[in-house]
Amino acid sequence: MWRALMTTTLPSAPKVGMVSLGCPKALVDSERILTKLRADGYEMSGNYDDADVVLVNTCGFLDSAKEESLEAIGEAIAENGRVIVTGCMGNEAEVIRQRFPGVLAVTGPHQYEAVVGAVHEAAPVPPSPFLNLVPERDLKLTPRHYSYLKISEGCNHRCAFCIIPSIRGDLVSRRPDAILREAEKLVQAGTKELLVISQDTSAYGVDIRHQPRAWKGGEVRAHMTDLARELGRLGAWVRLHYVYPYPHVDQVIPLMAEGLVLPYLDIPFQHASPKVLKAMKRPANEAKVLERLKAWRAICPDIAVRSSFVVGFPGETEEDFQYLLDWLDEAQLDRVGAFRFEPVEGAAANALPDPVPEEVKEERYARVMEKTAAISAAKQRAKIGRTLDVIIDAVDAEDGGATGRSKADAPEIDGEVHLRDAGHLKPGDIVSVVIEDADDHDLFGALPGA
Ligand code: SF4
Repeated sequence: MWRALMTTTLPSAPKVGMVSLGCPKALVDSERILTKLRADGYEMSGNYDDADVVLVNTCGFLDSAKEESLEAIGEAIAENGRVIVTGCMGNEAEVIRQRFPGVLAVTGPHQYEAVVGAVHEAAPVPPSPFLNLVPERDLKLTPRHYSYLKISEGCNHRCAFCIIPSIRGDLVSRRPDAILREAEKLVQAGTKELLVISQDTSAYGVDIRHQPRAWKGGEVRAHMTDLARELGRLGAWVRLHYVYPYPHVDQVIPLMAEGLVLPYLDIPFQHASPKVLKAMKRPANEAKVLERLKAWRAICPDIAVRSSFVVGFPGETEEDFQYLLDWLDEAQLDRVGAFRFEPVEGAAANALPDPVPEEVKEERYARVMEKTAAISAAKQRAKIGRTLDVIIDAVDAEDGGATGRSKADAPEIDGEVHLRDAGHLKPGDIVSVVIEDADDHDLFGALPGA
């Protein structure tokens, strides 16, 4: 009997050639780059003819080494024509570009992400479920269905109570295409929710002048709005953390209304009194936040705003504190965390006059918690009877219950939704849930008809 044979034609993987010059450290760099490229679906080529792109890892330690590097670049250009330069001589990009205007990209030493990004741009891997390895991340501390996505490191601000800039340095943003590639892999590997984190998400890309990069046939700027939109297009939930209320934050609210990004903003306001914010040296402290919250809610009525506040900052008077309580009454934030001010070794705030006595801090902390718990409880009660999308985090096969989160709840820091009669679900499922009850933080419900 004849049996019909079906064959799948696999697109061939792009081939990368590598010329590695210099010391053992440069060799380790080359190996790292090649390992990453292999994981991304590239093949290696041992000759110029066969390679789709050639990487030259240069050495610039001595003049003779520089000359050797320049010769190697020249040879690769003559033999292949599509050349990316990396390594120590990448610090002298101008010299290289002047002599070889045709090089595709020049990156510096240890810039693995930049060089891998340049290869992806020069010779993209054709999409194929048979070829593209989707490696799980080596070590993931979060469950498989949600993943943290770090978009930058460091911070350009100098808040008086914070020592992060002195430890991590100024803002260094990742390339948008590298972030998107990582996010895409995570989604392909089963991630249903991407949690965007950094020290200051709204400032993303400022250090690299929002430089655009190629992505899926178009361009994406290194800018929070563009990145949020493209992340949303990957199909997972996208949650933005540590957003400061700069004016351009207004541009992400329509993305939330469209459903591309979760209607959730984690904005660490820390205080409301203009005098205290100024003493704290907080970014965007002049933003007219109450008016903007109203405008955001008009565009996206379901937006949930989480924030944190510090009470007892040096110089905070009863009047400042009362200003904060009144502000919270107006702002009606969905989730609030509060902290009593504590001096951190090395922080500028330690030198400020008028420390607030411990017992006053305690009393203000209790008052702010009481206020915010009441607001949160009322907001929770208003959800009873509604049907909400819920992502499942855990299932208890024994009692048939499941625990998940609505779009208004980030893992670990916000509330949970407890489902009855849901033992057949699995973590990562996104289901509609009818809310039947609520307490101050959590919701309780069931699948429709259960
Ligand atoms: S608290 Fe201020 S200085 Fe510290 S990381 Fe955040 S924005 Fe930067």
